[in-house]
Amino acid sequence: MEISEIQVDGYERVARCRDAESGLHALIAVHDTTLGPALGGMRILPYVSEDEALFDVLRLSRGMTYKSAIAQTGLGGGKSVIIGEPKTLKSPALFRAMGRFVDDFKGKYITAEDMNIGIPDLEAVHETTKWVVGLSREAGSSGNPSPYTARGCVEGMRAVLKELYGSEDFSGRRVLIQGVGAVGGRLAVLLKERGAEVVICDINEEVVANMRSEHGFESVKDVGHHKVECDIYSPCARGAGLNDDTIPALRCKAVAGSANNQLLEPKHADDLRAAGILYAPDYVINAGGIINVSVELLKGGYDEKVALEKIDRIYDILTQVFEVSRTKGISTRDAAAHIAELRLANAKKKG
Ligand code: NAD
Repeated sequence: MEISEIQVDGYERVARCRDAESGLHALIAVHDTTLGPALGGMRILPYVSEDEALFDVLRLSRGMTYKSAIAQTGLGGGKSVIIGEPKTLKSPALFRAMGRFVDDFKGKYITAEDMNIGIPDLEAVHETTKWVVGLSREAGSSGNPSPYTARGCVEGMRAVLKELYGSEDFSGRRVLIQGVGAVGGRLAVLLKERGAEVVICDINEEVVANMRSEHGFESVKDVGHHKVECDIYSPCARGAGLNDDTIPALRCKAVAGSANNQLLEPKHADDLRAAGILYAPDYVINAGGIINVSVELLKGGYDEKVALEKIDRIYDILTQVFEVSRTKGISTRDAAAHIAELRLANAKKKG
């Protein structure tokens, strides 16, 4: 196994690992550990080149620094990527080699699940390093993050309603959810329990049919769903859904959902603001999962009660984001970045 360093300005450590025996070709980026060790998931994707993988790992690890800073997890930002086709490359030997690579960071980087990585893969990683979180509940870990992400979204939406209408009451408020998978499906149920009128859409017709028959949700076709009138539009499927084509079509008062990277470009946060639509920045409202997993690293280990208390603070954090956006006359995206950067700068000053 060969580990080599890649010098990148503004990053604490970026390294590559090649292991001929298992076929591992991976990168780990630690962006910033001012607030604590860098936590971020591991993904495996068939990147066409190492440059493409490097671009992804740098972008994602930086994003984790901001996400953890604003969610106050006491952690920094990092990420890892394995280059290759998951279906053919994945093996216990590959993940054990990846564990040795993670271990080389001596706890400065802590890994977790991300795209195409499951709990059995993480268990193999865990054989060669202790720096892994998000294993099964049975193993004393925090388990599946999705219900916690959904709960965080509900708390975030309460802050959205308060900002819009001066009241956090969900009754009669219409919420359109795109993507009713692990997070969106749970979110739909939680919102219905709180009295919201939930409308769902998903490209998976079977999922929609099941949700309709089980919970009586109204549904709309995914094509053209942006035009549906609602109080909150909640993207819980894929990224880049907020763009030049969709924003002018929106008939909502706010956008608040779990999907990562909802804005195609940063300027779309300004476009939403100009259209009078309140945007809950994705990485702020969808932090429930990372907050939950971060509790594993506290003294005494994972405690659900502690996790829920921390997740519920998403309400206060978003309220602060909206306030900064209002008083400074900037987009909520810029307001969230401003708060995260201030927190990092203050911690750096304190040493
Ligand atoms: P999931 O795969 O369980 O669910 C996604 C759902 O969206 C599926 O039902 C799928 O059919 C549907 N979908 C996909 N493309 C669609 C499209 N173009 N139009 C309509 N529906 C579409 O995923 P998930 O775990 O629920 O995550 C949803 C989003 O939230 C993702 O962007 C994910 O990155 C993000 N997120 C998830 C978590 C978590 O804890 N799971 C945490 C943070 C962010």
